[in-house]
Amino acid sequence: MADGGRLGAYQAKRDPARTPEPMETERSRPRPDGARPVFVIQEHHARALHWDFRLEHDGVLVSWALPKGVPEDPATNHLAVHTEDHPLEYGSFEGDIPRGEYGGGQVSLWDHGDYDLEKWTETEVKVVLHGSKAQGRYVLFATGGKNWMIHRMDPVREGFQPLPERIEPMLAVTGSLPARDEEWAYEVKWDGIRAVAYIDGGRVRALSRTDKDITAKFPELREVGEQLGARPAVLDGELVALGPDGRPSFGQLQQRLHLSGSAEISRRARQVPVSYVVFDVLHLDGQSLLDLSYDERRRRLESLGLSGPSLATGDSFRDVSGADVLAAAQERGLEGIVAKRRDSPYRAGRRSGEWVKVKIFMTQEVIIGGWTEGNGERSGELGALLLGILGVDGLRYVGKVGTGFGEEARRELLRALRPLARKTSPFSSPVSPSVAKLAHFVRPVIVGEVRYSDRTADGHLRHPSWRGLRPDKDPGEVTSES
Ligand code: MN
Repeated sequence: MADGGRLGAYQAKRDPARTPEPMETERSRPRPDGARPVFVIQEHHARALHWDFRLEHDGVLVSWALPKGVPEDPATNHLAVHTEDHPLEYGSFEGDIPRGEYGGGQVSLWDHGDYDLEKWTETEVKVVLHGSKAQGRYVLFATGGKNWMIHRMDPVREGFQPLPERIEPMLAVTGSLPARDEEWAYEVKWDGIRAVAYIDGGRVRALSRTDKDITAKFPELREVGEQLGARPAVLDGELVALGPDGRPSFGQLQQRLHLSGSAEISRRARQVPVSYVVFDVLHLDGQSLLDLSYDERRRRLESLGLSGPSLATGDSFRDVSGADVLAAAQERGLEGIVAKRRDSPYRAGRRSGEWVKVKIFMTQEVIIGGWTEGNGERSGELGALLLGILGVDGLRYVGKVGTGFGEEARRELLRALRPLARKTSPFSSPVSPSVAKLAHFVRPVIVGEVRYSDRTADGHLRHPSWRGLRPDKDPGEVTSES
């Protein structure tokens, strides 16, 4: 081989009978003087998504694998792992490398162009890229072994806004259908866990309402990173488990909470798969979208075409009758719908009348303030939970719930409540003497949710039935609105 030295490593890793990648092994002749060298960046959906950054130099493509792509912000350097030189022909390669082969997965061209070379040594390469996405001065520098870093030397491009660390979700008020349909859009009220996802360089981080990082608990979230690729984004949506009837099942979702250890999480994820239903986009391609109208944000969201085995774009029904949407949701056994004003911005962290949840059946978040034992055979076991809601004067007692949980849920609740025991009632309003006599009071820190039929004049819940724990909710926000 004329150039076994330079492209020998490339060749040794690949079997021409099994991969569609170009197998030319000749180093290309130098270009005529004055022709500028080219660069190419390929998006590679291998076992882990990465971008292959290749610079034409000395008749080959000198290559680095960038797990998070090319940084747009000089404040954030990205890892660049030096890999084997590739033949120049590789620069136009797109296609599928079969699973099991070296680099198995899909390769597509992300950007290409020419570049100016400013410096090239064994440990430092300075270039100015002229691509359609990658533009400006970059330096790659070795940090040890195969590991290099890539740093943007130019300032961020005009108007670029870095991905925010945290955007608190906008919340809806409980209410009834709005009067003027044309000003509103209607969405399904997803019966799951709210999650705001931060995607950067194909990597996803998701936070719950209470700021808990839930990324590791829901490996399904990786799919949204794979689909967005290098586009930085913040998405708002809900993690939903679908029951056997295709409806969101809050009960099933309970089985995905309180797991620890990745083996247990992935085992349970196979048994009870979860989907991320995205309904809003808050930041995209270096731009905050919070001030845009709902309609405009939805247009951007829909253009992303997010959809897959564990990913969906939630429907938004516009120019329809809210009553019809509500009736359809009722027919399908859904929890309710949410009406959103089409001209409203995204009010981060606010509960706003521009979003109205219209419930088909009544649910209420509650704080557990105590429990009573069961009768007869169940004595010593959990019989009922004593429930409270925050009011102006503290934790108001709103009744007890003794149905809706199975044996396992009863045992787990009791295990969680025992260490929280306290002598006195945590409630600011009286518990009826017959209940108080049997009550085991606890520190009021565990949040759950019940379904109920109605409220009495003094605010107690009628016919409550247990739905499950809400570890994603903060006790401080459990009011009659929640
Ligand atoms: Mn690669």
